Amino acid sequence: MDSEVQCSQIVKFARLEDLLALGRANSLWPLTFGLACCAIEMMAAGASRFDLARFGAEVFRPSPRQADVMIVAGTITKKMAPAVKTLYDQMPEPKWVIAMGNCAISGGPFVYPGQYSVVEGVDKLFPVDVYIPGCPPRPEALIEGILALEKKLTGKRRWPEVKPPPASEPA
Ligand code: SF4
Repeated sequence: MDSEVQCSQIVKFARLEDLLALGRANSLWPLTFGLACCAIEMMAAGASRFDLARFGAEVFRPSPRQADVMIVAGTITKKMAPAVKTLYDQMPEPKWVIAMGNCAISGGPFVYPGQYSVVEGVDKLFPVDVYIPGCPPRPEALIEGILALEKKLTGKRRWPEVKPPPASEPA
């Protein structure tokens, strides 16, 4: 009887939506997708020094059909914009978008009066969930952005702040 009481005390119930959100937040599958220099920092975030795998988001997919998060890393030219939108449309729901870097947020250094070739922010094409400023943002900033997206999905933050390496260490 005692063991039954103990068992009943540790049973917890959760809503199906919460469980799905927890699973999705812990296994984000980014689209393999880079547009300019910010993509180099995105690649660094996935490599061993920054180890994006610690946060469950390292499975970059080559097909939009298999991805649920688009990291827009780089400059979006007007010529490239239709292809970016097509990739977004091909991703199944639910899906999320991270705008990584000043170019993806607002066109970055390429915006000036009379410019004719750059889209002034990916949110002109489709909705963005997380914005990561910088030119380029460091890999830690991208990881922070992914953690912010996880928090958006679950309502909770699971990890402490990701900090840059000490100044004495090579970046
Ligand atoms: S924000 Fe800076 S680093 Fe990133 S793509 Fe634009 S120019 Fe390159």
